[in-house]
Amino acid sequence: MYSGPGVKTDANFPIPDTQKAWVLGNPGELKLTNKAVPVPKRAEVLVRIDAVAICATDLEIIYHGPPASILGGMPFNKNFTPGHEYMGTVVALGPGVDEYRIGQRVTVEIHAGCGQCKRCREGMYTSCHNYGLNYGDVDKGHRANGFTTDGGFCEYQVNNINTLVAIPDEMSDEEATLVVTAGTAMYGLTELGGLVAGESVVVTGPGPIGLLGVAVAKAMGASPVILTGTRDNRLKIGKELGADHVINVRNEDAVEAVRQLNGGKGVDYVVECSGAPNAVNDAVRMVNRGGKVCLAAFPHAETPVDVAHIVRNNIYLYGIRGEGKSATHRAEAFMSQKRFDATKIHTHTFPLDDLPTAIRYAKDRVEDAIKVVVKAKGAAAHRVAAE
Ligand SMILES: [Zn+2]
Ligand SMILES: [Zn+2]
Repeated sequence: MYSGPGVKTDANFPIPDTQKAWVLGNPGELKLTNKAVPVPKRAEVLVRIDAVAICATDLEIIYHGPPASILGGMPFNKNFTPGHEYMGTVVALGPGVDEYRIGQRVTVEIHAGCGQCKRCREGMYTSCHNYGLNYGDVDKGHRANGFTTDGGFCEYQVNNINTLVAIPDEMSDEEATLVVTAGTAMYGLTELGGLVAGESVVVTGPGPIGLLGVAVAKAMGASPVILTGTRDNRLKIGKELGADHVINVRNEDAVEAVRQLNGGKGVDYVVECSGAPNAVNDAVRMVNRGGKVCLAAFPHAETPVDVAHIVRNNIYLYGIRGEGKSATHRAEAFMSQKRFDATKIHTHTFPLDDLPTAIRYAKDRVEDAIKVVVKAKGAAAHRVAAE
């Protein structure tokens, strides 16, 4: 029977000893196996996973390895379960946990930093200096589910209470999986960037973070909010999420168009989500003097950058790693207040058993897939109407 020292359970939420879990074999190879249901320790709960969204970073991990780090190395053939954008129901409490109750619906953020390094102490736990050090005699207590510890492509997972975000009953499972994506955009714009109402924002690249970046910027009072991209159907969703202007970079010069829309001066912020080869050079020409560029995409090749232009114009350039400083809580507040409708980027749902199909839809953008969600229970494959 499922139990552990000091662990509280509830007969209304029975927990099996074993669960279905996908594990990563060789690159690109996922196998469905059985694993023990983990037991929460101090400051942890057990979450029954009700829905998990597939992220571009999952595809990076499954096909290439990084940023996952398991036992100090690549994640392949280590019985590792990926998946990190999940939500569910609290079904067991670790010793001393009274912050959440059994039966409560939560969504999760990824990173529980070590709590003791310089960055964790600053609230920048996604930049923990002890990333991946959670094993053997180098165990610093760092956890990042689906990156350095088992993640969400299974039925149950333990989470540190610091990674939980309570959600209202009205929020659907699918919408709740998107909180962490909105939280990432929020972290880039507000905590790292310092955006205040009335400042102008360009988002380059209408992927999930870009589209929710538009929504968050608009909800924060940014004006104007401009989205650039190559696919008209995605630009249309960007408009629905609050973009004041959209620019199809196949039809017009995006830098020129952005400057024209801002009195020739350019904008205060660019959130670069495209990873396109010349994206950084374009972004630093879209911002005004003293403006800020948040880099949120992973290009696969090194690209030359016009440093002199950055220096002469006092431009700030910063990377963003995940969703630090509890930005997901603020994103959830916007979503539960219905300040934007994140479900516009959710396109498909599949059962957990069909994870490889779901991954193919996300990777190859089958049927214009944007966010593909997998559910362990009660999900027949379906496409969500985009309207
Ligand atoms: Zn993600
Ligand atoms: Zn740390």
